[in-house]
Amino acid sequence: MDKEFQEEQFTGITKFTPPLYKQRYQFVKDLVEKHKPKKVADLGCADCTLLWILKRCSCIEVLAGLDVCATVMKKNMHRLSPLPGDYLQPAERSLTVTLHHGSVAHKDPCMLGFDLVTCIELIEHLEESELKKFPEVVFGFMAPSIVVITTPNAEFNPLLPGLILSRHPDHKFEWNRAQFESWALETARSYDYSVEFTGVGHPPTGMEDVGFCTQIGVFVRKRPQTIESVQSEEPTEAVYQTIFQAVYPSLKDEKYLQNAVVNEVIFRAQIIKQSLLGCLIPEPEEYSDDLIETELEFQPSVDCFSEHLETLVVENSMEPFVDGNVVYIPLTTIFSFPNVNRLCGTFEKFCELIAGKVTLSSDGSALMLSTEYENEEY
Ligand code: SAH
Repeated sequence: MDKEFQEEQFTGITKFTPPLYKQRYQFVKDLVEKHKPKKVADLGCADCTLLWILKRCSCIEVLAGLDVCATVMKKNMHRLSPLPGDYLQPAERSLTVTLHHGSVAHKDPCMLGFDLVTCIELIEHLEESELKKFPEVVFGFMAPSIVVITTPNAEFNPLLPGLILSRHPDHKFEWNRAQFESWALETARSYDYSVEFTGVGHPPTGMEDVGFCTQIGVFVRKRPQTIESVQSEEPTEAVYQTIFQAVYPSLKDEKYLQNAVVNEVIFRAQIIKQSLLGCLIPEPEEYSDDLIETELEFQPSVDCFSEHLETLVVENSMEPFVDGNVVYIPLTTIFSFPNVNRLCGTFEKFCELIAGKVTLSSDGSALMLSTEYENEEY
């Protein structure tokens, strides 16, 4: 029997492994990973499960959901909020997730500029009048580079035991492949898109003729969208209501970048300090810190016991050194750590980000750390 499709002999229950809805979401996820869209909108997003999956795709910077039913969106929308870990370790990309309450039968400017629009099991829920307006709203007005539409394949229905009329009481229709394909081809032709058909939910062995359980059309806009084509649109009034928005912490935001840089600088400086002081005053074994030993990327080449140390002036020093109860660590040393220079890009930006956040030598060339706390331990 087909691995993916199992009809339980005695109960008559048809099961897909993984479940069909997960296969649809996986299809979208694969498409996102292939095309790397930055802005994705899910129309008919219901309980936001697909949005919740897509928020983990690192290419996406703008994620929007639209549904005509606010109650179903509100049920689980908290899953779209940032988690404590997102604040502790902000991502490099920016991400804004927004939920709108409204209908795909209406145009709203908030839906402009998307690269990918997904309509997963949506069209069969539309009233005839809404379905009529749908192509103009999605393909004509929103005009993203890619549109994915999935809908049940009615030809598969006889293989779903216990099914009366349709798969869901709210389905206004269920199309066979010829019906979906002719609608999709006509829509693609009218709005200058190409369309390819595929699906998820393989039929069982020997029944391949019925096609996939879920049929899918992937539409790709033939011509790139120009600024003129966007501007030629009549200005549209906002009709959707925004019911949720989450702006994720990101290193693109100066505030989070500064935090991350300062934390990294302090962490690296502490390791160097430990290393220098450990050299001067050997740590008793029970105090040895595994983390510091294993994390140590920097090996000071300076001879810690050198008598010349105290006579070194900060400006001329290329190496960290201890003078009295102060550890001096040249900024160039700290900037040379890959994590630090990757975050900052340039040395100038690095200096700008740490200014006022750490103590610097009078000439501003080195970070100063007190040795005091270490000495207190002895
Ligand atoms: N995409 C989801 C939900 C599919 S059910 C999934 O794959 O699980 C269809 C959803 O479309 C429902 O949440 C319904 O409220 C919504 N819907 C129905 N008519 C709509 C319309 N005119 N505009 C926007 N959403 C609509």
